[in-house]
Amino acid sequence: MKRKKVWRYYCDFCGKGGCSKPHMARHEKHCTKNPDRVCGMCDFLGLAQRPLGEILAEIPAPPTKDELHGGCVSFNEPEVHIAPFRDATEGCPACILAAIRQSEWADSPVIQFNYNAEAKEVMNEHRYYNEQMINERDAETAAGLRDWERRHGDS
Ligand SMILES: [Zn+2]
Ligand SMILES: [Zn+2]
Repeated sequence: MKRKKVWRYYCDFCGKGGCSKPHMARHEKHCTKNPDRVCGMCDFLGLAQRPLGEILAEIPAPPTKDELHGGCVSFNEPEVHIAPFRDATEGCPACILAAIRQSEWADSPVIQFNYNAEAKEVMNEHRYYNEQMINERDAETAAGLRDWERRHGDS
């Protein structure tokens, strides 16, 4: 019989655990609960990541209990509540999620944000855009080459 003790590593910010130290270190760096997080999605999308402090300063406070119970706050228009998050983050889903989780909105019943769906959508859009750029560039290169060949073909 073999008995083995293994280390487990836990994120300082969200408590998520894992057995791989490098993996958890990477998670911590990007964790949406880390106030100094480095946003991998901004990087992927080519956006200049804004510091979370700046983002949070632009987000209004969530509705109070009185406002919620007074019936003045809409539960059916998630876009109304998420709009300031989109404006403050250039629409990066990971930064939006981080801002929600690190503000009082984290516990608000009116906030709805489908991170997985939105992340998938922006990443697909970005890939499509990149492919278009590459196709355009290739077409230009090919046209330039044909042009060059036409001019130099006889010499
Ligand atoms: Zn974490
Ligand atoms: Zn981001």
